[in-house]
Amino acid sequence: MKIILNSKDLRKKINHIKNLGFVPTMGSIHEGHLSLIKKSVTNCNKTLVSIFINPKQFNKKKDFINYPKKINSDLSILRKSKVDYVFIPKIKDIYSYKRFRKIKLNKKDKILCAKHRKGHFEGVLDVMDRLTKLINPKKIFMGKKDFQQFILVKNYIKKKYNINVIGCPIIRDVNNVALSSRNFLLNKRELLISSQIINNLLFFKNKFRKSKNINHLLRIKKIELQNKYEIKIEYLENRKIHNFKKINYINKSNIFIAYYIKKVRLIDNL
Ligand code: AMP
Repeated sequence: MKIILNSKDLRKKINHIKNLGFVPTMGSIHEGHLSLIKKSVTNCNKTLVSIFINPKQFNKKKDFINYPKKINSDLSILRKSKVDYVFIPKIKDIYSYKRFRKIKLNKKDKILCAKHRKGHFEGVLDVMDRLTKLINPKKIFMGKKDFQQFILVKNYIKKKYNINVIGCPIIRDVNNVALSSRNFLLNKRELLISSQIINNLLFFKNKFRKSKNINHLLRIKKIELQNKYEIKIEYLENRKIHNFKKINYINKSNIFIAYYIKKVRLIDNL
């Protein structure tokens, strides 16, 4: 496994590779990331993982500062996987040029996380654009845990570079909590709360499979969960998977949730 620390070295090391799979991450590597890596390794000749905590996508400075950082353990986990290259750029490698035209979201996309985290996806699209330009992969692998991110990046990258972004299933722990680097910021009790919330929603989805009034029921569920677990829920909505339209019944739709346990913001969809 080769470690690449700047964009100059990157060009030298990967220029010749024809079928390169790219897995972008912000580090604190877990089984969710490893599932994307496995998919890339089986689909591509070589696999490159990037570790870059992108300051531009954090709408709160404190969140950026507190984001978990575990570079040494990340490298030892990645060494045991079949990754060929790990790219750990500096901010100046990525933001080496000014953008001629600002990246803007369409009005219809300003829902869920885009509504609640101003500038977040603009920052994600910016960094994915810059990384894709530098790396020029054949395929990009992203998780459906961040479903809205996956769809926005997929559409942007397909249109601009004609590169496919492959969506990979959500990896959960034994208690159904979606794996996330932010889980490292939770204690045992808080992780338990997270699993109770998700299991509550899985039960809810199953129970009201035939209901025609899901979003109304979710508004009641939101209040119930907030009171029961002393959490703050930012959104809890049932939306179509292919176009994110809010619908009142369960059919090719997912329940999308963003919530805070203390200061830690978590998202999931099920
Ligand atoms: P992050 O390091 O959180 O920016 O995530 C890097 C990539 O891993 C993104 O494409 C995420 O959607 C994906 N990912 C994170 N957690 C999971 C998970 N539990 N299951 C599947 N993919 C995940």
